[in-house]
Amino acid sequence: MISIEEKSHCSGCHACANACPKNCIQMISDEEGFWYPQVDKEKCIDCGLCEKVCPIIHKWQPDDSRTTTAMAAINLNEEIRFKSSSGGIFTLIAEEIINQGGVVFGAAFADDFKSVHHICVDNTDDLEKLRGSKYVQSKIGDTYKQAKHFLDSGRKVLFTGTPCQIGGLYSYLRKPYENLFTQDIICHGVPSPMVWEKYVDEREKKAASKTQRMFFRHKKYGWKTFAVLFEFSNNTAYIKNLREDSFMRAFLSNSCLRPSCYDCSFKSVKRQADITLADFWGIQNVLPEMDDDKGTSLVLLHTSQGKELIYFLKDKYRYKNVNTEVITKYNPAGVVSCKLNKNRNRFLKCIKNSEFDKTVSKYTKDSLYRKTRSFIGRLMRDIRK
Ligand SMILES: Cc1cc2nc3c(=O)[nH]c(=O)nc-3n(C[C@H](O)[C@H](O)[C@H](O)COP(=O)(O)OP(=O)(O)OC[C@H]3O[C@@H](n4cnc5c(N)ncnc54)[C@H](O)[C@@H]3O)c2cc1C
Ligand code: SF4
Ligand code: SF4
Ligand code: SF4
Repeated sequence: MISIEEKSHCSGCHACANACPKNCIQMISDEEGFWYPQVDKEKCIDCGLCEKVCPIIHKWQPDDSRTTTAMAAINLNEEIRFKSSSGGIFTLIAEEIINQGGVVFGAAFADDFKSVHHICVDNTDDLEKLRGSKYVQSKIGDTYKQAKHFLDSGRKVLFTGTPCQIGGLYSYLRKPYENLFTQDIICHGVPSPMVWEKYVDEREKKAASKTQRMFFRHKKYGWKTFAVLFEFSNNTAYIKNLREDSFMRAFLSNSCLRPSCYDCSFKSVKRQADITLADFWGIQNVLPEMDDDKGTSLVLLHTSQGKELIYFLKDKYRYKNVNTEVITKYNPAGVVSCKLNKNRNRFLKCIKNSEFDKTVSKYTKDSLYRKTRSFIGRLMRDIRK
């Protein structure tokens, strides 16, 4: 049966919990707010399935026939692009699957915005819930089981998420499906759900109101500004860029990420997913004509299924092919894990029982701040170059 000796060896993908025939695995939050499997030993029959489906124990290896191609792409629908984190390519793919009678899985806020969960959507209006990056770990719940049910009934399924969530899905399914399409992202890492909840509580306390809408990447001041926007029910709003917002500072200084993100098993140019989406950082150097600061996607195509789907949609987006070297040059999160901030554990302990903005400020007075500031400074310089 599955047992977590080393936290960095569990991404919290939920594959083991979905696979257990006795339903005896619960995903329980630890003191940092990250979920890990916990087995009810009374009910366990020692069948070993939970270990068989773990994508970290059994790491996927690409076969030599897999060739990854890359392109810069922009959805021609300006309204959708504005509402999306990069070039709005996720919505294009998802709309096509739904128009073909399929369903789409992805990450959505809970009604109170205090957590993020994977949900299933079967109409294009509801795609709004999945649109836009949520920089916090999304809970898979039983969505792998749901996806299998649709796949077995012959319905097309698009499953989207972080590379470890896509790895977890494939390991759980344990056989190929022609009606399955998958899309992952270049993933910096996922912040703790506990930290996110604390942060939302504080925003609401300061606004004396409840969150009505929230965007991590509002484009009011441009794509490269990373504007965090809260709209509250008392008609007030909070908007700050990535240098000013305390949550983004904690996220990008690597102070609140899941342990597995510092030693990620899923970093590589070749991926298990059919398609990878990312921000095309460095676009102003590579293809300045594709940069209007409204968002350009980097699209990686790994399988013939992914290539066919994207080329079928080619009248709906503007694109230029590029060399996959742009990943290592401008978006290293695609291939290497982020560096552990030496203050991470101290920060996570402290944030639990203290005021959020003040705690981030306190830490930002020491080396954590210098690191955050220099990381953000470098990021801003890179994306503006
Ligand atoms: C935690 C996280 C870290 C990221 N790190 C990087 C990075 O280092 N470099 C980079 O270039 N891009 C990164 N991205 C990807 C980038 O922000 C965009 O999501 C991507 O470019 C797709 O943009 P889009 O405009 O096509 O679609 P959008 O509509 O903006 O994206 C929607 C898609 O993102 C998925 N999604 C949103 N939040 C989550 C979540 N919490 N967990 C799993 N899936 C989620 C949805 O399911 C959907 O598939 C990250 C995204 C997330 C969520
Ligand atoms: S060994 Fe089998 S029954 Fe026991 S927890 Fe794992 S999957 Fe469940
Ligand atoms: S990585 Fe996924 S399958 Fe492996 S132990 Fe963690 S939650 Fe379970
Ligand atoms: S960095 Fe790796 S382990 Fe962390 S969420 Fe992303 S894919 Fe999963």
